Amino acid sequence: MNGRSESLYQRARKVMPGGVSSPVRAYQPYPRYISSAKGDRITDVDGNEYIDYCMAFGPLILGHAHPAVVSALQAQAERGTLYGAPIEAEAQFAEEISREYRSMEMVRFVSSGTEATMHALRLARGHTGRKKVLKFEGCFHGAHDAVLVKAGSGATTHGAPNSSGVLEEVASNTLLATYNDLGSVESALRAHRGEVAAVIVEPVMGNVGPVLPAEGFLQGLRDLTTAHGTLLIFDEVITGFRLSMGGAQRRYGVAPDITTLGKIAGGGMPIGVFGASEDIMSKISPLGKVYQAGTFSGNPMSLAAGMATVKELRGQGHEGLERKGDLMRRGLEEALWDLKVPHKVAGIGSMFQLFLSSSPVRNYREALSSDSAMFDRLFRRLLDDGIYLAPSQFETNFLSTAHTDEDIRRTVDCLAACLREVSR
Ligand SMILES: *Cc1c(COP(=O)(O)O)cnc(C)c1O
Repeated sequence: MNGRSESLYQRARKVMPGGVSSPVRAYQPYPRYISSAKGDRITDVDGNEYIDYCMAFGPLILGHAHPAVVSALQAQAERGTLYGAPIEAEAQFAEEISREYRSMEMVRFVSSGTEATMHALRLARGHTGRKKVLKFEGCFHGAHDAVLVKAGSGATTHGAPNSSGVLEEVASNTLLATYNDLGSVESALRAHRGEVAAVIVEPVMGNVGPVLPAEGFLQGLRDLTTAHGTLLIFDEVITGFRLSMGGAQRRYGVAPDITTLGKIAGGGMPIGVFGASEDIMSKISPLGKVYQAGTFSGNPMSLAAGMATVKELRGQGHEGLERKGDLMRRGLEEALWDLKVPHKVAGIGSMFQLFLSSSPVRNYREALSSDSAMFDRLFRRLLDDGIYLAPSQFETNFLSTAHTDEDIRRTVDCLAACLREVSR
């Protein structure tokens, strides 16, 4: 029964475009409106319960409403939610981040991943005095002008990878390259020698579904950018604290010049972080001439939830998450091995996706060759069985410490059965 979701959608869409606050939440015929969540379960307004693998698109690595996070938030709320003045937790969290991410000697806290990448790119331009930036097709770095060019995630799902409203003059300063193709990066850097301020990349792509870097790709980016005097930015808004405490940069052993964090770093509250060496970060206002500011920056609630999450995660370690990821991926491979429908199980650590594709997915174009219409049918069929994937072929599903082996096994069985059904 979905009557309340349907009527809420009818009501919301009269006053909100598509009835949602972010397009990634929209799906046909109407999205489920959620009323509560706990652990790995979400419950909608009609009382249906789902095992959640969307996990708010990545932040909730401890699951929903983890007691440590809830009590940190309660304690902070009692003391006030915002002061417009610095607090001790900022220095403490900055030190913790700096210890885990050696490339981030200094950090600035902002309120979203979008802000983090926007300011990281401005900083790169201010630092190098260069105009252009290079991104990869299908990477998503938030919803600001410079990066809404061949952007993944909802921009791809809803058919606007090159957003209307972004000035040609702006978009023309964003160069594009193909993920996992160092040649495409090298030729762009050569063609625009001395003009490229930064190469920005998701070290593991998460926003067309998980796409892993080929052997040597990240190190190749490091070498090419260094040779061209271009800064390398790792957008670890998804991978930070997820692929290890030190993110993808520790897992792959490649250090960028600038790092952006978000999602998990806020423990379910809004956050973005960008950081770099002291030399680069000293260009930021009030020390330097690259301006950046925000009413909600470094806000006490986000820091409280983020620090509680990081502390809990450090205590638990990532082994359980890695094991559950393997259980899911291996389970799906085994359950689907004899299926005639082309498919590829993808992912790493606690990230996974099923690409309905006949070839391995190594970049954006290969991701786009997946059967996204069939994926939509699968997604909706799974909702009826109480399983909530991220609502697009071009997203990643996330496991949390709250997911149980039993839930994963049930999900594998359900997914295999539903895929057989919708592909008939
Ligand atoms: C989610 C995401 C962003 C944007 O973060 P918001 O907090 O949604 O603004 C940026 N980069 C990557 C890699 C992301 O996955």
